Amino acid sequence: MHISVIGTGYVGLVTGACFAEFGVNVTCMDNDARRIEKLEKGEVPFYEPGITELVTKGVREGRLSFTTDIAKAVDKALVIFIAVGTPPRGDGSADLSYVEEVGKGIARNMTGYKVIVTKSTVPVGTGEKLREVIKKTQTNAFRFDIVSNPEFLREGSAIEDFLRPNRVVIGADSDQAVAIMRDLYRPLYLIETPIVVTDIPTAELIKYASNAFLATKISFINEMANLCERLGANVQMVAKGMGLDNRIGPKFLHAGAGFGGSCFPKDLAALIQTGERIGYPVQVALAASKVNEDQRRRMVDKIRDAVGGLKGKTLGLLGLSFKPNTNDLREAPALAISQELLKQGAMVRAYDPIALDEACRIVSALQPCADPYDAAEGTDALIIMTEWNQFRNLDFERLKGIMKSPILIDLRNVYDSDRVVSHGFHHISVGRPSKSPPTAERRS
Ligand code: NAD
Repeated sequence: MHISVIGTGYVGLVTGACFAEFGVNVTCMDNDARRIEKLEKGEVPFYEPGITELVTKGVREGRLSFTTDIAKAVDKALVIFIAVGTPPRGDGSADLSYVEEVGKGIARNMTGYKVIVTKSTVPVGTGEKLREVIKKTQTNAFRFDIVSNPEFLREGSAIEDFLRPNRVVIGADSDQAVAIMRDLYRPLYLIETPIVVTDIPTAELIKYASNAFLATKISFINEMANLCERLGANVQMVAKGMGLDNRIGPKFLHAGAGFGGSCFPKDLAALIQTGERIGYPVQVALAASKVNEDQRRRMVDKIRDAVGGLKGKTLGLLGLSFKPNTNDLREAPALAISQELLKQGAMVRAYDPIALDEACRIVSALQPCADPYDAAEGTDALIIMTEWNQFRNLDFERLKGIMKSPILIDLRNVYDSDRVVSHGFHHISVGRPSKSPPTAERRS
């Protein structure tokens, strides 16, 4: 089978490369000529573990090719995936202009029956809208079907998530389209991946409901963390005790600086906006979003309290991407928090294994550092913002020798307090009691 994927971002490129791995012939199209030029040379324009190898393999074996020409992408493909961005507009609703533009491009270049699939996250009703756009734009009335096939991959483990997903959701109103989609996903069917077949609006909503639920879990545990700090309890043990209940599960119960990234904040906002539009405010999603915004402010307060005021202080920031193993900075808490720290008069030395240059372009006052120890040099406190593995075994003796004050503000609860304190550091984390070394306690 020949398919095409329009949009070669995190989702589009992973989708294309993984289908090529399944033995399908894939054309990946993007209107960003520089991106396609790079991909043709085997250079992937973003960081995602394993993707370069998979793209190289697909190209070498002749199943994966790239183009900027939508006519080429549409011509041979039986299935066309739309994987372009759906960023938030000012009112929180999803901007569907890229999806519609692609729909028109497909319509103008159709040469026969096509299955047109939205892989982008799109609000309920987009499938129908897309059908209308295509019908209106077609010059020849070729038959086509619309399918909603939302993507659930996570940046940082995108390939594993695509090749071994928990489920595949197919929303369609045509048996022929469902049969073609099942055929395409046959390698997953063979490993007993559940395939949920439903109508288009339901499939569209499954994606928003899933992301809103996960975001709510994070905001919920962050609220518990804030309670723990006031009540002298430990949120990690609360999460453990909760998560062992099979009805709850342990995942997404890690207290921290709040969620970021290109999906949760945007998808929550779009769901909230959908509720407003139809006169049904989605209150849980609204609360999850508000708690998340507040959590970022709380982190700034926590840092300010730890160092006794921000003006004139120097802080070291470890980790800038919204989570480890990605260079994605969209809605990264580190950006908002560091901007606020700078605004309140602190100097911020920053290090991230992958996202440093881009972060410093966005927040130009950040001082880029070569490694965690460079970031810690002369600082009043070191802050763990993103839990990259390389921050899990810091050399505290070395840090103590180069920092102005031995304070670790661990916004991802990476460290056990006793270990940090045993090296003479103060340890401030999220939802757990702060700890200081015994000598410091005696002094205060
Ligand atoms: P992205 O910004 O990384 O990539 C989008 C790509 O689309 C870009 O390369 C852009 O040049 C291209 N594009 C835009 N308009 C185009 C056009 N008219 N023709 C051809 N190409 C065009 O976005 P992403 O993170 O891959 O997300 C894509 C969609 O998938 C979004 O709706 C997002 O919500 C959803 N999604 C993202 C993730 C994730 O983790 N990133 C996970 C699941 C779902």
